[in-house]
Amino acid sequence: MDEDKLKYFSQLEDLYGDEIFLSFDNHTEKIPTDLTKNDDLNRLSIFNDKIKNCLKCELGNSRKNFVFGSGDPNASLLIIGEAPGEQEDLSGEPFVGRAGKLLDKMLLAINMSRKNDVFICNVLKCRPPDNRDPKKEEINECEPYLINQIDLIQPKLIVALGRIAGKTLLGVEKSLKDMRSVLHKYHSRPLIVTYHPAALLRNPNWKPGAWEDFKWIQKLLN
Ligand code: URA
Repeated sequence: MDEDKLKYFSQLEDLYGDEIFLSFDNHTEKIPTDLTKNDDLNRLSIFNDKIKNCLKCELGNSRKNFVFGSGDPNASLLIIGEAPGEQEDLSGEPFVGRAGKLLDKMLLAINMSRKNDVFICNVLKCRPPDNRDPKKEEINECEPYLINQIDLIQPKLIVALGRIAGKTLLGVEKSLKDMRSVLHKYHSRPLIVTYHPAALLRNPNWKPGAWEDFKWIQKLLN
């Protein structure tokens, strides 16, 4: 086996453990076809400028930074988390903490990265104090921003990370188990729900399930 393949398999083993090798199927190289369009970048950053001083809910007063989201403005894959945590609030970037590092590795395992064909953001753009769950009124104020982002990015697939993001976007009170492995729709776009990477850090035994979901993501995009 050549060195690149060995590196690839050892990275997968690190991420998901050796169980995944049993169900590993054809790994197809994803060749990026869409170059970043300046127009898309401009439209998104104009939108960010327009909303970044938002004070529509109480989180506007406690945030350090408004976390608009980042990545490829022309992405096929839009990943949506729950809300910024402490590190994200400090840096203004989504998923920069430990969970974010794991998310980067999971994307790499399907030949994707947040700079190429992926955009990452959250349902809420500001950090809830002590990382509490988002409140209904906060979601009501913030969700229109997300819908606008979707209209600008026009992703082929949306992935909600975790039960809170999933149930908020789908408007249902369901467990993660009931939302996983189903192709849902959000604003006319296909949406799937998978584990939040922070949950995978706490429960590594869920990683094989997450790997199944990421292989499905790869299939849906190809
Ligand atoms: N968790 C989230 O849901 N979003 C982030 O940006 C970071 C952690």
